[in-house]
Amino acid sequence: MPKQELLNCTNCDGQYAKDELQRDCGNCFACTGCEIYICPNCRRPIVVKPMKKLQIKKN
Ligand SMILES: [Zn+2]
Ligand SMILES: [Zn+2]
Repeated sequence: MPKQELLNCTNCDGQYAKDELQRDCGNCFACTGCEIYICPNCRRPIVVKPMKKLQIKKN
């Protein structure tokens, strides 16, 4: 049995199995491997991997 990964919603403090969450990748314009899910309870995004920004110049 595969181990279920639990994600924590920082907004409502709930824990949800990754498999049961709806993935929300509609906001990123060119997906670069981000992982964002929608919390079933509060409908806020749970960000696992934030979307990458276009190169940020440091300094
Ligand atoms: Zn939530
Ligand atoms: Zn994406």
